[in-house]
Amino acid sequence: MDAASMDAASNWWWADKTPQDIARIAAQGGVGVLPLAAIEQHGAHLPLSTDLDIALGLLQAALPRLRKGLPVCVLPPLAVGLSLEHSAFAGTLSLSPETALAVLGELGDGVARAGFRRLVLFNSHGGNKAIVDLAALKLRAAHGMLVVKANYFRFAPPADALPAAELRHGLHGGALETSMMLHLAPHKVRRDAVDDFVPLGARLAADGRLLGPEGEAGFAWMAQDLHPSGAAGNARLADAALGRRLVTHFGAALARVIEDAHDFDLSCITGAGDPPRPAPAA
Ligand SMILES: [Zn+2]
Repeated sequence: MDAASMDAASNWWWADKTPQDIARIAAQGGVGVLPLAAIEQHGAHLPLSTDLDIALGLLQAALPRLRKGLPVCVLPPLAVGLSLEHSAFAGTLSLSPETALAVLGELGDGVARAGFRRLVLFNSHGGNKAIVDLAALKLRAAHGMLVVKANYFRFAPPADALPAAELRHGLHGGALETSMMLHLAPHKVRRDAVDDFVPLGARLAADGRLLGPEGEAGFAWMAQDLHPSGAAGNARLADAALGRRLVTHFGAALARVIEDAHDFDLSCITGAGDPPRPAPAA
């Protein structure tokens, strides 16, 4: 999706507004949505833009579903994220953790300065999770604003869409991401390189280990630890119909999150520097 096609339905872009527009939307209890992605290797079958394409595809699915007239502005997507774990592969771009935290903080400051008190960090890349957590808390503390950590891969998937083991271990370029790319950007998928990239996590789980790359006792990993190809998961399970189902499902969930952010009672959180709210009377 590009800006023009998103404009066809409605203009959601922050950057297309005037200061007067922004002030009006802020006064209506506006919600800022900051898309966060990555430009990083996803194996030989998917492009570096995979996480960005998925983030924009899910937004395109979500925005038309919002209640009519909901005051929402989408900030310029942050294409490059924190991708240290993919840095051994050519083409991966990454901010350092310190830079990423500073960038998210300064963008959030701008949203707060515009009078918004509701921000959704909409993230499509697992490697950004830690920075999303930290930036959200810092912005909440500094501005007394609602900051939502919307990692789509944490949204409950549609029932029976994929085997549980693939959902658990197919972390990167597996059936989930490959399916959505086959739906959103089929011309970018190198079908002859699609394969079953059996990840380290699946092998450890089959051995009955509690230790794994993610889960109860996770360890820090680089992509090549999970599988030498850089991908992890069974991309052979992917197809475009499943991709469409996933995009519709996660897009609907994102729309609900944005609506919930708009409807959220800000008195549930205190302002910057406020003392803690008294406990409700028993
Ligand atoms: Zn990805």
